Amino acid sequence: MDTAEDTAVAPPVTDDPAHEVLRRVFGYDSFRGAQREIVDQVIGGGDALVLMPTGGGKSLCYQIPALVRDGTGVVISPLIALMQDQVDALSALGVRAGFLNSTQFPDERRAVEAQYAAGELDLLYLAPERLRMESTIQLLGRGRIALFAIDEAHCVSQWGHDFRPDYLALSVLHEQWPDVPRIALTATATAKTRDEIITRLDLAGARRFVASFDRPNIQYRIEPKNRPDRQLLDFLRAEHPGDAGIVYCLSRNSVEKTAAFLTENGIRALPYHAGLDHRTRAENQARFLREDGLVIVATIAFGMGIDKPDVRFVAHLDLPKSVEGYYQETGRAGRDGLPSTAWMVYGLQDVVQQRRLIDSSEGDAAHRRQLQLHLDAMLALCETVDCRRTQLLAYFGQSAQPCGNCDTCLSPPESWDGTVAAQKLLSAVLRLKRERGQSFGAGHLIDILLGKKNQKVQQYDHHELSVFGVGTDLRDSEWRGVVRQLLAQGLLTVHGDYGVLTLTEASESVLFDGRTVRLRREPERPTPSRAARSAKSAKAAAVELTEADTSLFERLRQWRADTAKEQGVPAYVVFHDATLREIAARKPGDLAALGAVSGVGESKLARYGEQVLEVVAAQ
Ligand code: ADP
Ligand code: ZN
Repeated sequence: MDTAEDTAVAPPVTDDPAHEVLRRVFGYDSFRGAQREIVDQVIGGGDALVLMPTGGGKSLCYQIPALVRDGTGVVISPLIALMQDQVDALSALGVRAGFLNSTQFPDERRAVEAQYAAGELDLLYLAPERLRMESTIQLLGRGRIALFAIDEAHCVSQWGHDFRPDYLALSVLHEQWPDVPRIALTATATAKTRDEIITRLDLAGARRFVASFDRPNIQYRIEPKNRPDRQLLDFLRAEHPGDAGIVYCLSRNSVEKTAAFLTENGIRALPYHAGLDHRTRAENQARFLREDGLVIVATIAFGMGIDKPDVRFVAHLDLPKSVEGYYQETGRAGRDGLPSTAWMVYGLQDVVQQRRLIDSSEGDAAHRRQLQLHLDAMLALCETVDCRRTQLLAYFGQSAQPCGNCDTCLSPPESWDGTVAAQKLLSAVLRLKRERGQSFGAGHLIDILLGKKNQKVQQYDHHELSVFGVGTDLRDSEWRGVVRQLLAQGLLTVHGDYGVLTLTEASESVLFDGRTVRLRREPERPTPSRAARSAKSAKAAAVELTEADTSLFERLRQWRADTAKEQGVPAYVVFHDATLREIAARKPGDLAALGAVSGVGESKLARYGEQVLEVVAAQ
């Protein structure tokens, strides 16, 4: 009978199980941003589409409903290499989690399957390709499913940069289990990608949660490229000595060379690219995650889902293919909310190279056109005279004021009237074409403008052109800046192996209709001073530490390193930097005080509490 008396004798149930789980399991006091609403939506059985930047706190959005609802939360994730770490991190919190993917031995897999079927798992991580197997669908049918979480949901989009064909098979979930709530999550979200996720995953009825994509603790900077290795080294020495970070390069070869160069110069760096054998790759990734202060030099094969919270910088030595890719990659910095840098060098050669890749790419004209749009947006970001962050957020459909924490805000670039310079360059291109039927790359055109009577000029009699030597008012590097910006503004295009420049329709308006061209002056020394940086750093929510606190923090880190090593897990699985900082500042004297620190949940308190108190007491 359902009487008031019956409820009175029932075990006390909290009226807010989601908050209870947040506090007890994860050790956090309050939900962040839209987490509360998302969690409620899914607990209530509804679907959700969650767009949140990296570090925004997506995992809790499905982990908490999985713990609150009956059954197992099934998480589809392409991040096979990271599943073990994810499961370890959950186990450290006392959550029952397992995974199924191709890296497992059959007996391990069978054990997880048995646990699932027996209802002994709170969370099960699945690689998407497993859903193509009938046996997986049967297995899922043997247990009770609390929810489906589709992580990195942008992988379903062909417009985006991480397309995985296996993701297209995810529509079976909804067909097979129409009543199980689904939550799709991604940190990549242009309107186009978003629409594709909704259509392909049949999520038209889902509630959408779009968080701000701003990452205020990341400082964005883009500098002209001249000697990239050297520039990188100067940057690391000046601003990030001893810090963990990621350096992205386009080719395997430059990954190897850059890693070797850093190592020769006393910076601990490891290479990562698809050409390395599987073991070396896995080992380098594991070391980057586990050890403090390592630099990983990588192609974009590295990084999706890397949830190391204390990556202090992401450097790009080559131009990324799209703004989405760039934002995703730079977003791997500073997940812990502490000040971090996204630093890139970029030059004319990058544009030529990207163009060449597009021209030679497989796929039809429409596909190449898409790639070109991606490149155009990336160039516009590089050449902007406005706030980089404003421009980035605009790309994701969000508006923002100038941020005060990017290079163009910190040292605003001057702009100048480049109309005459543009006319000189464009008419050189036009004359060569009209009078000689020839096209050339930027280097040779600039030599002509500068009046250099070198071998190639003489060979073609180019010193006889009327434009020969008309551009001596600018230096070579300034001319390269002009070419880059004309490309970025669509007033010029580049083609082929030699980076041949040709006019566009828009070029004519500059040559013949008096259209003016504003250009950005090449900065002499664009790096903001350290003072400017640290003033801004104060914005980020770091617990301030005194000198004595800092030495305690270092001892806590040492304890964490030893503990993590002993248990074979990444250091951040034990505790995050932010948690150790708070412990160092508050110096808790007993377990109750330690339990009040953010990031210390019940399971970690029981497991590490006494040891941490000892480290604190041993001052
Ligand atoms: P994402 O998957 O969106 O990149 P994560 O789920 O890894 O982000 O969360 C980023 C960091 O923020 C993690 O260290 C996580 O523990 C922390 N975090 C998430 N939600 C909260 C919260 N409500 N309170 C405190 N820390 C949180
Ligand atoms: Zn700015």
